[in-house]
Amino acid sequence: MKEMKLDIHGRVYDMMFVPATHPKMTLDGELYWGRALYGESELLIDENISEEKQKETALHEVLHAVDPDMEEDKILSLTHNLFAFIRHNPDFIEYISQCNLGVIDE
Ligand SMILES: [Zn+2]
Repeated sequence: MKEMKLDIHGRVYDMMFVPATHPKMTLDGELYWGRALYGESELLIDENISEEKQKETALHEVLHAVDPDMEEDKILSLTHNLFAFIRHNPDFIEYISQCNLGVIDE
């Protein structure tokens, strides 16, 4: 199982890549590609979907954690557009992440 720690609004989330059979991947009989579990600070991603879908789903679940009040439709649209933007502009992402806010150590 792959795992990643993410700081979202100062809270550490565990992003975990789990099999589709993981009990938390099903809600009300429906199987999900990803879940954002705020109480447990966990973001779960189905490790059996394609690598590209895993990454898009990871972004989707992060957006849920960034703004838990945002409507699903808005999250879906933002995921789609932001995913394409990030994929097409890696230099911009590097530019943003390298700004010196006093948080990132050399
Ligand atoms: Zn969603």
